[in-house]
Amino acid sequence: MSAPQRPEEKIEGGNGAHGESVQAVNVTPPPVERRRKPRIPDTPPAPPPPPSLDDYEPLLGKPELDELRFLASGLRARTLKMVNSTAVGGGVAEILNRLIPLMSELEVSTRWEVITGGNDFFEVTKAFHNALHGGEYDFTKEAREIFLTYSEMNRRRMEFGEDLVVIHDPQPCALVRSKTGTPGRWIWRCHIDLSHPHPGVWGFLRPFVEQYDAAIFSSPAFSRQLAVPQYLFYPCIDPLSEKNKELDESYLQKICDDFGIDRSRPVVTQVSRFDRLKDPVGVVQAFKLARKYVDCQLVLAGGGASDDPEGAAVLQEVVEAAGDDPDIIILNLPPWSALEINALQRISTIVIQKSLREGFGLTVTEALWKGKPVIASAVGGIPTQIIHKLTGVLVHSIEGCAYHIRYLLTHPELARRLGQDGREHVRENFLITTNLRRWLVLFQVMLQVAPEK
Ligand code: UDP
Repeated sequence: MSAPQRPEEKIEGGNGAHGESVQAVNVTPPPVERRRKPRIPDTPPAPPPPPSLDDYEPLLGKPELDELRFLASGLRARTLKMVNSTAVGGGVAEILNRLIPLMSELEVSTRWEVITGGNDFFEVTKAFHNALHGGEYDFTKEAREIFLTYSEMNRRRMEFGEDLVVIHDPQPCALVRSKTGTPGRWIWRCHIDLSHPHPGVWGFLRPFVEQYDAAIFSSPAFSRQLAVPQYLFYPCIDPLSEKNKELDESYLQKICDDFGIDRSRPVVTQVSRFDRLKDPVGVVQAFKLARKYVDCQLVLAGGGASDDPEGAAVLQEVVEAAGDDPDIIILNLPPWSALEINALQRISTIVIQKSLREGFGLTVTEALWKGKPVIASAVGGIPTQIIHKLTGVLVHSIEGCAYHIRYLLTHPELARRLGQDGREHVRENFLITTNLRRWLVLFQVMLQVAPEK
């Protein structure tokens, strides 16, 4: 457990890896009736069955689904393989878990394979990941050899007879050594930000990347100059996942009761790992400034503080910044809290994402999809999602954030319009169905096939 906790601060409801599955850290405990027993399971629940394409029709309309079926029609006799480094955990696995059943339903024959490796391999690839994000790294000959040895083992174990082979991220990227002599086109899908890579690691990986027929990045800013064609695929969310699906009003009320949130007053929320780059302390400061003028509560919901020493330290800093303010509700949630996060986003009046640095910022996508007015920093992929004063508000400081909390709480019509237009922006660009459409079009281009007439 990561923060000092008085017995009355503990919320019952299961045992996480470190004792409590959820830890609410209201500095002044609210009255007993404001905080009951959230029933968050102490182990991850079994995932619900994946939705079928027809389930998206009420959200997207039939024409959009017909378009997907049409685009897939020319690919029916073709075969596709996707390869990544993990079947569970992490954003890539989450997307593939949704995307592949949809492709199969469209009769695009798709196999998903996962590379294997020992701890030494995954330690090296984790270090590569951090170094490619610009971190310091002592790139040794030994690390290089571990990477190449496991790549070779995987390469020998796997076959690549498909028409299209899509390799995700750096861990399996050296599999491209098998390309010569295989019939297919090879695509490297990079989900990470390569804008400031460690020169040694990038210099080592680049010759592999340039053997592919194409590379895909999540933002123009994340890409590198390469000798192969590059495509832009935005990250995406699934509107039917636990994190994003519609929820009953009774469940929303239950979550508010459980966490001591007063729905009769405005709620300002940030959902983020307890990480300094998410600036949770800055959110507390902005909230305190705004609350001098407008009544509101702040919910800071995050995770990662139980198994990460830095997360625990950041949580502690947030608790200290909150002081004895009873309107600041800090929730340290286990990783399988998708429904709770969904509910917290839905009951919010405003959602904040005050990151100092950011990848794409999926929490922003999730909040926009729920029609929320979002105030977020102009960093990483956030400006792609938030068009200032059209689909949300971009800010650059604590004071700017405070000003816009106050402004939106006193201008509900503008707040409503931002949320509504934000949702449309997500519908158009950042849903899994849009992502699926991009894949289908790219496959057609790579294979130079035309859909059936
Ligand atoms: N999230 C979560 N539990 C938490 C905090 C965040 O499940 O305690 C989710 C959040 O809803 C989003 C993802 O983790 O789906 C975070 O993605 P984002 O791109 O915003 O930030 P990252 O954590 O990858 O930097």
